[in-house]
Amino acid sequence: MSSKCVEAFNKLVDEGRVEYEQVPCLCGHQETIRIADRDCFGIKQCVVKCKKCGLVFNNPRMTEQSLKWFYGSDHYRLIYEGEDRSGHYEDCYDLTRGNTIIHLVDKVKPIDSIVSVLEVGCGGGWNLLPFVNRKMRVKGYDYSAELTSLGKNQGLDLEQGGIDDVKGSYDLIVLNHVIEHFTDLFGSMNKLMSHLNDGGVIYIAVPSFDKRSLQNAHNYYFDVMSFQIYMNKCGLTPLLLRPQYNVHLSGVFKKDNLAIRSVSLYMNYWAFYIYKHLVSPLVGNINKIVRGLSGSLKMMLKK
Ligand SMILES: [Zn+2]
Repeated sequence: MSSKCVEAFNKLVDEGRVEYEQVPCLCGHQETIRIADRDCFGIKQCVVKCKKCGLVFNNPRMTEQSLKWFYGSDHYRLIYEGEDRSGHYEDCYDLTRGNTIIHLVDKVKPIDSIVSVLEVGCGGGWNLLPFVNRKMRVKGYDYSAELTSLGKNQGLDLEQGGIDDVKGSYDLIVLNHVIEHFTDLFGSMNKLMSHLNDGGVIYIAVPSFDKRSLQNAHNYYFDVMSFQIYMNKCGLTPLLLRPQYNVHLSGVFKKDNLAIRSVSLYMNYWAFYIYKHLVSPLVGNINKIVRGLSGSLKMMLKK
C-alpha cells in the first residue's frame, strides 16, 4: 500500500468530494466519544464510541453512494489490496479458510446434515470450495465482477450481486467479514434470515475491535460483548463464539425462535399469575394458621 494512495484519498476528503453522513448508534443513542481521527491506513475517518452501549463505529461515515463509489474505485483496491495483486487471489484458493468454517459449524450442527450453503460477500468464492467438495449445493454472491468471474473459472456457482439479489433458502449462511460493512445492519440481517431454512445456522466472522481494525469502510467495530448484543438484536442466538488469531471474532448462530419465546413469555406470565394469586395467598394463609395454632398452643402450655 502506497502512502500516495492514502494522500490522494485524503485530498478528495479535504476537497469535500467524498460524501459523509451523521448516524446514531445502533442502540439509537446520539452521544459519543471520539476515539480516532484516522483509520489504520492513515485515511481521515472519525471513529466514535457510544456513551450508552459502548459500540465503536464510524461517524460521520461515508454515505451508501460514496461507499459504492469507493468499493468500485482504484482507491479501494490500491489502499486495501496494494499495487501488485498478481497471484494475490489465486493464493486464496486453498481449503484452509472453508475448512475452518466447517470445523466450527460442525461443533453445533453435524456438517453432514447441511445440504445447501449461501455466502454473501464471497469474493472469489474461496471459502466455498470445501463445501463443494462435500457435494453440497453452494451459491455465492459478491459485488465484484472480477472476483465472481474468477470463482466461476474455479467451477463455483457465483453471481455478481448482494443481499437483494439472493434467491432460495439454505441450511447454512456464511458472512465472512461482511456485516461490519453494512449500512443497515438490522434490515440486511432480516432480509438474509428470510433465506435461512428452519434449523439452519449462520456463520458470522468480523474483525474484533482493535486499532488495526479501524478502516474507513468498516461502519461498525464489534468486540465479544457488542457482537453478541447486536446479533441478538438481529434475532440471532449464539451457539458458539470463537475469537480467532486475536484479530477475528467468529460465531455460529441460530435464528431466535420467536414462537417459542412468545410461548415461554406467556407461560411465565401465567406461572407468575398463579403464584401471585393462588400459591402466595395460600402460603400466607397457611403461615397465619400455623402462627395462630402455635400461639394458641403456647397459651395452652402456659396455662
Ligand atoms: Zn449505542
